[in-house]
Amino acid sequence: MGYKIRKCKQCSRYTLEESCPYCGGKTVNPQPARFSPADRYGKYRRQSKQIEDTI
Ligand SMILES: [Zn+2]
Repeated sequence: MGYKIRKCKQCSRYTLEESCPYCGGKTVNPQPARFSPADRYGKYRRQSKQIEDTI
């Protein structure tokens, strides 16, 4: 957290720039990817949701 890393929509490279320095494409804040540690939080969220549902 705290990184301003962005990902190019076109070439999927990571950069800090708003426009890709490699291909000039638009960069976006990458969504929490499946292979990123953020997914763990997603799993926890899902679990706590299920717990809430059972309660
Ligand atoms: Zn690019």
